[in-house]
Amino acid sequence: MRYLVLSDIHSNLEAFEAVLEDAGPVDQVWCLGDVVGYGPDPNACVELLRSLPHLCIAGNHDWATLGKLDLRDFNPDAREANLWSREQIAPENLAYLKALPETLVEGAFTLVHGSPRHPIWEYIIYASTAQDNSTYFDTPVCFVGHTHIPVIFCLSNKDGKEACETMPPSLNSPRLMGQERLIINPGSVGQSRDGDPRASYVILDEESLTFEHRRVVYPVERTQAKMMEHNLPLRLVLRLGYGW
Ligand code: ZN
Repeated sequence: MRYLVLSDIHSNLEAFEAVLEDAGPVDQVWCLGDVVGYGPDPNACVELLRSLPHLCIAGNHDWATLGKLDLRDFNPDAREANLWSREQIAPENLAYLKALPETLVEGAFTLVHGSPRHPIWEYIIYASTAQDNSTYFDTPVCFVGHTHIPVIFCLSNKDGKEACETMPPSLNSPRLMGQERLIINPGSVGQSRDGDPRASYVILDEESLTFEHRRVVYPVERTQAKMMEHNLPLRLVLRLGYGW
C-alpha cells in the first residue's frame, strides 16, 4: 500500500490539488488535521478530501471552526479567519469535521495533529518534547502535523538510555524505517512556515518500508487573490508568498 500523508491543508485548494497531482496514485490519503482555517476554500477542501479514500483526524482549527475551542486562544488573524470559516462552512462539512477523532492507530502508525500526549494543542518543535511524548504512543512510528514544519525525530533506547535526535528531511529520497522509533511531520500543504512556500507532504510505502518528504510548487497568487476577495487578514495573505 502506498499512502499520501499530509497535514494542515488550511482551506488552500490550489496547494491541495497540486499535492494530489504530484503524489501520483496512492491507495489512501492520511490527513493529520487542520483541513480548514486561514485559507479561502474551506468547503472545497473538505469536499475534495471526502471524495478520496482517506483517514483524517481533528486539528485545532477544525475544532475552532466547529466552535469547540475558545477563539480567544487564537491570535487575532487566525481568529478572524476562523470566524469567516465558521460562516462559510456547509452543514454536511461541519458534521464531517465534528465526527473526526483526535487520534487514530493504523497498524504500525499513530496519527495525531499536535502530539500523542495532547493531540489538539501541543507543538512538537524540539527533540525534548518529542522524547517526552515517546511513552504516549505504542507504535513504531507516529505522524504529527500542527507546526507546519517538516521534520523527523528519531527516538532511540540504548542500554536503557533514551535519546532523541532531530533530522531534517532530505527531499525526494526515500528513507528506510529501521529499528528506531520515529515521529514524522510531513509539513503543511496550505501554509508552510519554514521559509519555503511550496506545499509539503510525505509518501509512505508500506512494502518497501520507506517514507519520503516532498515539496511541490502551486499557484500561490491564485490563493492570495481569493483571500483578498474575501477580505481575509492581509498578514495571512502575504505569509503564503514567503512560506512563513
Ligand atoms: Zn495548522
